[in-house]
Amino acid sequence: MLRFLQQLTRRLRGRSLTKAKLWLALLSLVFLPLFVSAEPACEAQKIRERYGVEIVLVGQSWSETSLGAVDDALSRLPPHVVSQLGSRFNGSLYILCNTESRTLSGTSVFSHGANFYSNSDGRNELVLYPDQSTPTVLHELAHAYQLRLVPAGKYALVFRDEKMKDFMQATGWRLLSSDAQVETALDQTQLSFAYDGPTVWHFMSNNDPLEDYANSFALFFYDLERLRQLSPVRYDWILEHVASE
Ligand SMILES: [Zn+2]
Repeated sequence: MLRFLQQLTRRLRGRSLTKAKLWLALLSLVFLPLFVSAEPACEAQKIRERYGVEIVLVGQSWSETSLGAVDDALSRLPPHVVSQLGSRFNGSLYILCNTESRTLSGTSVFSHGANFYSNSDGRNELVLYPDQSTPTVLHELAHAYQLRLVPAGKYALVFRDEKMKDFMQATGWRLLSSDAQVETALDQTQLSFAYDGPTVWHFMSNNDPLEDYANSFALFFYDLERLRQLSPVRYDWILEHVASE
Protein backbone atom coordinates (compact mmCIF):
# COMPACT_ATOMS: atom_id res chain seq x y z
CA MET A 1 0.00 0.00 0.00
CA LEU A 2 2.81 2.42 0.98
CA ARG A 3 4.73 1.62 -2.18
CA PHE A 4 1.61 2.19 -4.22
CA LEU A 5 1.06 5.60 -2.57
CA GLN A 6 4.67 6.60 -3.22
CA GLN A 7 4.36 5.66 -6.88
CA LEU A 8 1.09 7.55 -7.15
CA THR A 9 2.64 10.61 -5.49
CA ARG A 10 5.43 10.64 -8.08
CA ARG A 11 2.93 10.26 -10.92
CA LEU A 12 0.67 13.06 -9.63
CA ARG A 13 3.66 15.40 -9.13
CA GLY A 14 4.56 14.90 -12.78
CA ARG A 15 1.14 16.25 -13.72
CA SER A 16 1.68 19.56 -11.89
CA LEU A 17 -1.07 19.17 -9.31
CA THR A 18 -0.88 21.64 -6.45
CA LYS A 19 0.23 20.30 -3.09
CA ALA A 20 -3.27 20.69 -1.65
CA LYS A 21 -4.82 18.68 -4.46
CA LEU A 22 -2.19 16.01 -4.06
CA TRP A 23 -2.94 15.64 -0.35
CA LEU A 24 -6.65 15.56 -1.06
CA ALA A 25 -6.15 12.74 -3.54
CA LEU A 26 -4.05 10.77 -1.08
CA LEU A 27 -6.44 11.34 1.80
CA SER A 28 -9.44 10.17 -0.22
CA LEU A 29 -7.56 7.02 -1.14
CA VAL A 30 -6.99 6.26 2.53
CA PHE A 31 -10.40 7.28 3.84
CA LEU A 32 -12.73 6.30 1.00
CA PRO A 33 -12.87 2.62 2.06
CA LEU A 34 -13.85 3.76 5.57
CA PHE A 35 -16.78 5.76 4.22
CA VAL A 36 -17.86 2.91 1.94
CA SER A 37 -17.82 0.41 4.82
CA ALA A 38 -19.75 2.89 6.99
CA GLU A 39 -22.68 2.82 4.54
CA PRO A 40 -24.19 -0.48 5.73
CA ALA A 41 -23.87 0.82 9.31
CA CYS A 42 -25.86 3.96 8.41
CA GLU A 43 -28.52 1.96 6.60
CA ALA A 44 -28.68 -0.55 9.46
CA GLN A 45 -29.13 2.29 11.95
CA LYS A 46 -32.02 3.69 9.88
CA ILE A 47 -33.71 0.26 9.84
CA ARG A 48 -33.24 -0.05 13.63
CA GLU A 49 -34.80 3.34 14.22
CA ARG A 50 -37.71 2.76 11.82
CA TYR A 51 -38.70 -0.78 12.83
CA GLY A 52 -37.09 -1.59 16.20
CA VAL A 53 -35.20 -4.60 14.84
CA GLU A 54 -31.46 -5.14 15.34
CA ILE A 55 -29.33 -5.46 12.21
CA VAL A 56 -26.21 -7.40 13.19
CA LEU A 57 -23.16 -6.08 11.31
CA VAL A 58 -20.15 -7.77 12.89
CA GLY A 59 -19.07 -10.85 10.96
CA GLN A 60 -21.94 -10.51 8.46
CA SER A 61 -21.96 -10.12 4.67
CA TRP A 62 -24.44 -7.29 4.20
CA SER A 63 -24.65 -5.60 0.81
CA GLU A 64 -26.81 -2.75 -0.42
CA THR A 65 -29.16 -5.33 -2.01
CA SER A 66 -29.47 -7.39 1.18
CA LEU A 67 -30.20 -4.38 3.39
CA GLY A 68 -32.52 -2.90 0.77
CA ALA A 69 -34.62 -6.08 0.70
CA VAL A 70 -34.90 -6.09 4.51
CA ASP A 71 -35.92 -2.44 4.52
CA ASP A 72 -38.43 -3.00 1.70
CA ALA A 73 -39.94 -6.08 3.36
CA LEU A 74 -40.34 -4.37 6.74
CA SER A 75 -41.84 -1.27 5.11
CA ARG A 76 -44.65 -3.40 3.66
CA LEU A 77 -45.81 -4.71 7.05
CA PRO A 78 -48.31 -2.92 9.30
CA PRO A 79 -46.74 -1.53 12.52
CA HIS A 80 -48.70 -3.98 14.71
CA VAL A 81 -47.09 -6.88 12.81
CA VAL A 82 -43.58 -5.38 12.93
CA SER A 83 -43.86 -4.90 16.70
CA GLN A 84 -44.70 -8.61 17.18
CA LEU A 85 -41.93 -10.17 15.09
CA GLY A 86 -40.26 -13.02 16.96
CA SER A 87 -41.15 -14.89 20.13
CA ARG A 88 -42.53 -12.49 22.73
CA PHE A 89 -40.42 -14.31 25.34
CA ASN A 90 -37.15 -13.25 23.67
CA GLY A 91 -37.24 -9.49 23.06
CA SER A 92 -36.09 -7.85 19.82
CA LEU A 93 -35.53 -9.53 16.48
CA TYR A 94 -31.88 -9.74 15.34
CA ILE A 95 -31.33 -9.94 11.57
CA LEU A 96 -28.12 -11.53 10.29
CA CYS A 97 -26.76 -12.06 6.79
CA ASN A 98 -24.13 -14.71 6.07
CA THR A 99 -23.43 -17.62 3.74
CA GLU A 100 -22.84 -20.18 6.51
CA SER A 101 -26.33 -20.18 8.12
CA ARG A 102 -24.62 -18.90 11.28
CA THR A 103 -26.61 -17.62 14.25
CA LEU A 104 -25.23 -15.13 16.81
CA SER A 105 -23.82 -17.98 18.92
CA GLY A 106 -21.65 -18.95 15.91
CA THR A 107 -23.54 -22.21 15.34
CA SER A 108 -24.26 -23.15 11.74
CA VAL A 109 -27.84 -24.42 11.90
CA PHE A 110 -27.82 -25.81 8.35
CA SER A 111 -24.91 -27.36 6.47
CA HIS A 112 -25.47 -25.12 3.44
CA GLY A 113 -26.67 -21.54 3.00
CA ALA A 114 -30.27 -21.05 4.06
CA ASN A 115 -32.78 -18.46 5.19
CA PHE A 116 -34.45 -19.18 8.50
CA TYR A 117 -35.93 -17.84 11.73
CA SER A 118 -34.60 -19.29 14.97
CA ASN A 119 -35.27 -18.73 18.65
CA SER A 120 -33.40 -21.85 19.79
CA ASP A 121 -30.70 -19.85 21.61
CA GLY A 122 -33.28 -17.80 23.52
CA ARG A 123 -32.92 -14.95 20.99
CA ASN A 124 -35.08 -14.05 18.03
CA GLU A 125 -32.82 -14.38 15.01
CA LEU A 126 -33.55 -14.11 11.31
CA VAL A 127 -30.60 -15.46 9.35
CA LEU A 128 -30.55 -14.55 5.67
CA TYR A 129 -28.32 -15.69 2.85
CA PRO A 130 -26.83 -12.59 1.12
CA ASP A 131 -28.77 -10.80 -1.63
CA GLN A 132 -32.20 -12.33 -1.06
CA SER A 133 -35.34 -10.87 -2.62
CA THR A 134 -38.07 -8.96 -0.78
CA PRO A 135 -40.56 -11.91 -1.01
CA THR A 136 -37.96 -14.23 0.56
CA VAL A 137 -37.36 -11.80 3.43
CA LEU A 138 -41.14 -11.46 3.87
CA HIS A 139 -41.45 -15.25 4.01
CA GLU A 140 -38.89 -15.44 6.84
CA LEU A 141 -40.51 -12.52 8.67
CA ALA A 142 -43.76 -14.50 8.45
CA HIS A 143 -42.13 -17.32 10.44
CA ALA A 144 -40.94 -14.78 13.02
CA TYR A 145 -44.53 -13.51 13.28
CA GLN A 146 -46.38 -16.85 13.26
CA LEU A 147 -44.11 -18.13 16.07
CA ARG A 148 -44.55 -15.03 18.25
CA LEU A 149 -46.31 -16.96 21.01
CA VAL A 150 -43.95 -19.94 21.26
CA PRO A 151 -41.16 -20.19 23.87
CA ALA A 152 -37.52 -20.71 22.83
CA GLY A 153 -36.94 -23.89 20.84
CA LYS A 154 -40.56 -25.09 21.18
CA TYR A 155 -41.68 -24.44 17.61
CA ALA A 156 -44.21 -27.29 17.52
CA LEU A 157 -46.27 -25.60 20.25
CA VAL A 158 -47.50 -23.19 17.58
CA PHE A 159 -50.11 -25.86 16.76
CA ARG A 160 -51.81 -25.16 20.11
CA ASP A 161 -52.22 -21.53 19.02
CA GLU A 162 -55.87 -20.77 18.14
CA LYS A 163 -54.85 -18.58 15.19
CA MET A 164 -52.79 -21.36 13.66
CA LYS A 165 -55.65 -23.82 14.18
CA ASP A 166 -57.93 -21.35 12.44
CA PHE A 167 -55.54 -20.92 9.48
CA MET A 168 -55.32 -24.69 9.09
CA GLN A 169 -59.08 -25.13 9.20
CA ALA A 170 -59.66 -22.34 6.67
CA THR A 171 -57.10 -23.68 4.20
CA GLY A 172 -57.69 -27.43 4.51
CA TRP A 173 -54.85 -28.65 6.75
CA ARG A 174 -55.34 -31.30 9.43
CA LEU A 175 -52.87 -32.20 12.17
CA LEU A 176 -52.62 -35.99 12.41
CA SER A 177 -50.20 -36.09 15.36
CA SER A 178 -51.48 -36.35 18.94
CA ASP A 179 -51.29 -33.62 21.61
CA ALA A 180 -48.52 -35.62 23.31
CA GLN A 181 -46.51 -35.67 20.06
CA VAL A 182 -46.96 -31.90 19.66
CA GLU A 183 -45.73 -31.46 23.23
CA THR A 184 -42.51 -33.38 22.64
CA ALA A 185 -41.75 -32.50 18.98
CA LEU A 186 -39.06 -29.92 18.27
CA ASP A 187 -40.76 -28.54 15.20
CA GLN A 188 -43.33 -29.26 12.50
CA THR A 189 -41.02 -31.59 10.57
CA GLN A 190 -41.54 -34.17 13.35
CA LEU A 191 -45.33 -34.01 13.03
CA SER A 192 -47.79 -35.43 10.48
CA PHE A 193 -50.38 -33.47 8.52
CA ALA A 194 -53.03 -34.08 5.89
CA TYR A 195 -54.04 -31.48 3.32
CA ASP A 196 -57.47 -31.54 1.69
CA GLY A 197 -57.31 -28.28 -0.26
CA PRO A 198 -56.28 -27.53 -3.85
CA THR A 199 -52.65 -27.13 -4.90
CA VAL A 200 -51.74 -23.45 -4.49
CA TRP A 201 -47.94 -23.25 -4.32
CA HIS A 202 -45.43 -24.48 -6.88
CA PHE A 203 -42.84 -24.58 -4.14
CA MET A 204 -42.89 -25.08 -0.39
CA SER A 205 -39.62 -25.78 1.44
CA ASN A 206 -41.55 -28.34 3.49
CA ASN A 207 -45.11 -29.54 2.95
CA ASP A 208 -46.68 -28.22 6.14
CA PRO A 209 -49.05 -25.47 7.34
CA LEU A 210 -46.26 -23.18 8.61
CA GLU A 211 -44.73 -22.98 5.14
CA ASP A 212 -48.16 -22.45 3.59
CA TYR A 213 -48.81 -19.62 6.06
CA ALA A 214 -45.41 -18.02 5.36
CA ASN A 215 -45.98 -18.17 1.57
CA SER A 216 -49.47 -16.66 2.00
CA PHE A 217 -48.19 -13.89 4.28
CA ALA A 218 -45.29 -13.04 1.91
CA LEU A 219 -47.49 -12.87 -1.18
CA PHE A 220 -50.18 -10.83 0.58
CA PHE A 221 -47.69 -8.11 1.51
CA TYR A 222 -45.76 -8.32 -1.75
CA ASP A 223 -48.52 -8.75 -4.36
CA LEU A 224 -51.99 -8.54 -2.84
CA GLU A 225 -53.87 -9.10 -6.11
CA ARG A 226 -51.81 -12.15 -7.00
CA LEU A 227 -52.77 -13.83 -3.71
CA ARG A 228 -56.42 -12.85 -4.18
CA GLN A 229 -56.41 -14.60 -7.57
CA LEU A 230 -54.36 -17.58 -6.43
CA SER A 231 -56.26 -18.32 -3.23
CA PRO A 232 -59.18 -16.14 -2.09
CA VAL A 233 -59.34 -18.16 1.13
CA ARG A 234 -55.73 -17.29 2.04
CA TYR A 235 -56.21 -13.68 0.97
CA ASP A 236 -59.27 -13.33 3.25
CA TRP A 237 -57.54 -15.04 6.14
CA ILE A 238 -54.38 -12.90 6.06
CA LEU A 239 -56.49 -9.77 5.58
CA GLU A 240 -58.64 -10.54 8.61
CA HIS A 241 -56.12 -12.16 10.97
CA VAL A 242 -52.78 -10.50 10.14
CA ALA A 243 -53.24 -7.28 8.18
CA SER A 244 -56.15 -6.01 10.31
CA GLU A 245 -55.30 -5.08 13.84
ZN1 LIG B 1 -40.30 -21.16 5.42
